[in-house]
Amino acid sequence: MIVQLIKRVLQLSKNKGESHRNFSPSIQYPPPIDETTIHLLANRYEGKLLLRNEIAIDEKSFQHLLTLRYFTSIPSIEKRMIATTCMRCNNIEPSLFGTIPCAKCERSHLYCRKCIEMGRIMECEQLYYWSGKQFDWPKINNPCTWKGYLTNAQKNATRKIENAIKKNEELLVWAVTGAGKTEMLFPGIELALSMGKRICIATPRADVVRELLPRLQNAFSSVHIQGLYSGSRDNDGTAQLIIATTHQLLRYRHAFDVLVVDEVDAFPYHYDQSLQFAANRAKKLSSSLIYLTATPRKKLQKRMKSKKLKTVFVPLRFHGYPLPIPKPIYSSKLNKNLRETILPETLRRWLAQRNSPSRQLLLFVPTVDLAEQLIHSVTSLLLHFNLIKSGSEVEYVHAEDKKREEKISRFRSRQLYALITTTILERGVTFPSIDVVVLNAGHEVFDEAALIQIAGRAGRSPLDPKGEVIFLHEGKTDAIVEAIRLIKDMNKRGKLLLSEKEVRN
Ligand SMILES: [Zn+2]
Ligand SMILES: [Zn+2]
Repeated sequence: MIVQLIKRVLQLSKNKGESHRNFSPSIQYPPPIDETTIHLLANRYEGKLLLRNEIAIDEKSFQHLLTLRYFTSIPSIEKRMIATTCMRCNNIEPSLFGTIPCAKCERSHLYCRKCIEMGRIMECEQLYYWSGKQFDWPKINNPCTWKGYLTNAQKNATRKIENAIKKNEELLVWAVTGAGKTEMLFPGIELALSMGKRICIATPRADVVRELLPRLQNAFSSVHIQGLYSGSRDNDGTAQLIIATTHQLLRYRHAFDVLVVDEVDAFPYHYDQSLQFAANRAKKLSSSLIYLTATPRKKLQKRMKSKKLKTVFVPLRFHGYPLPIPKPIYSSKLNKNLRETILPETLRRWLAQRNSPSRQLLLFVPTVDLAEQLIHSVTSLLLHFNLIKSGSEVEYVHAEDKKREEKISRFRSRQLYALITTTILERGVTFPSIDVVVLNAGHEVFDEAALIQIAGRAGRSPLDPKGEVIFLHEGKTDAIVEAIRLIKDMNKRGKLLLSEKEVRN
């Protein structure tokens, strides 16, 4: 009867498709608690670090579980002589703690502003983690239903990934843009599931979670997979395979045997210490941590160079063609011209002689204002070259743009010939046949990683693998020089790999 009730309660909150807040069931546990109930609770709460209102158990039963030490509590905000620390996000920055009157304590006290988007954490509250019996994740044999094939370069990486999973090691997978990195994960995921391990693929961006979920579900059709991001529906975190934004990891503690951090260099993960802290805490003490990136930041590169981080390169795109090498083009008075919404002469000259005018154009600009301001000049230029028939074939897009998705899909279906964009389209998007222009590539927003990712938008399809990339600049920055050097370096590695008959282990 009790089990039935709990099952119903768990099911109910699952069906509601929202987090556990505002939940107040009136079930109660008589002591002692039976095995089945413990099993259900362990499945749901093991590996999490939650506020009381995120735990869907009535107060009396919860107190009972606390007394029996199935749950353990820690203060949410710890005050010490030297510093105050938020125990959820590890924030110690005094300016990121606010003070608020608390109705419960009838006094004002601290709350953490740093992790507020995960729900406000108050000084008087506790955080709870499951300290009862561990949940036995099932060993799932042959769960992979994907029928595609992997290239030699991909296979080489999958072997290293499997090895890291077996040995609970850290690994950096440095794969060029368009290498097919998701598919490279499949054998490792299959191995982990067959060993009864719990896996999380974390990524800084929610749209990547949304994109990966159906692909993973197709590849592992019989496995329950959950995608966790702000606003996701199936979100109680009871699945053995989880795809989550790095923000969601703030709710986890020693949960995963395998943690893959995809796009480890992307915003906001690479500069947000609390997300890196969360990722480290979310994995089990003995576990495998796999970083996936086309553009590792200096910190990872340094660890790689000093041999503290094992690395595998995937220097070839899945179609086997080299990466397009960006062409830097000096454009005098570029900044002044752009301020006056005049397009540089160099762009005109390049348009007049580019290899394939049938390719669409993706134009990157450093600011939202410039994206808006340049649309008329770009339209006139393209009309002049007979590349478009009307202004409706040109659009601009930026992060706050409400029609962002619609414009991207119009570009994808070739209703638009040219799209002017800020760095929001630097990664995660694939268009089959485009040339890429960066207007003012020397601007500070275009760092080395951004420029490599931007260049990586071209030539992604095997049907047109040779898109052009030009960097218009008024003086080469280190970022421009370094981005081009790294792209050439990867192509060299790729060539070497192709010349070898068998990929080395
Ligand atoms: Zn309070
Ligand atoms: Zn916090």
